[in-house]
Amino acid sequence: MVGGNWKCNGNLAFAKSFPAEVLNTLKFDPKKVDVVVAPTALHLSTVQANTKNNVHVATQNLSLTGDGAFTGEFSVGMIRDMGVTHTLTGHSERRSLFGETDQDVAVKTKIAIENGMNVMVCIGEQLEERETGKTDEVNARQLQAVADELSEGQWGNVVVAYEPVWAIGTGKVATPQVAQETHAEIREWLAANVSKEAAATVRILYGGSVSDANAAELIAMEDIDGFLVGGASLKPAFH
Ligand code: PEP
Repeated sequence: MVGGNWKCNGNLAFAKSFPAEVLNTLKFDPKKVDVVVAPTALHLSTVQANTKNNVHVATQNLSLTGDGAFTGEFSVGMIRDMGVTHTLTGHSERRSLFGETDQDVAVKTKIAIENGMNVMVCIGEQLEERETGKTDEVNARQLQAVADELSEGQWGNVVVAYEPVWAIGTGKVATPQVAQETHAEIREWLAANVSKEAAATVRILYGGSVSDANAAELIAMEDIDGFLVGGASLKPAFH
């Protein structure tokens, strides 16, 4: 899977031109790779209308609430009504800037899956946690919150996006060895805490300053099953 996360970027003109100039020119076999792009909620329907190949359009977030008096939110029912089948949850910017807890992320993941969606759950450690040897502990804590909410079978609709926070938007990509080591730990965690099947089948994406310059050496790693791309997903290089 290759996901593009536009974050809070783009405008109406871009939501029309990027599908035409980049997304619709991608050549990939949709049986072998899922390509997913997550524009802002405002631009989602324009991107949907202008994307003509097998690229999935995703939300970057969803509400913990259903429909009702929840100003500023959008519910999973609305997302499904728009024909959207994929979403991110737990992006580090949601966690660190908007106060989402592990529990919020886990419940959002469950709500999305119970409503038939495929979820890219983002996890990852801060720089200080990496430097103090806490990476695996942090990833395990974030994954455990999700595991507490999901049945074993629901992991079939989960993709884990490992995104070390120190690598997001910084240009400091994890080395292939560092990323591989952490992905292998995540896979072991899944085997021990969810099931062997989940460990074998859940895709683990790497995210953090991925670009056309470093993607090839990262994807060569055994436990890296794709990418979640931020900044470079807004550029023709996403190609
Ligand atoms: C992201 O936003 O998920 C991300 C990985 O950003 P970037 O590629 O810009 O580091």
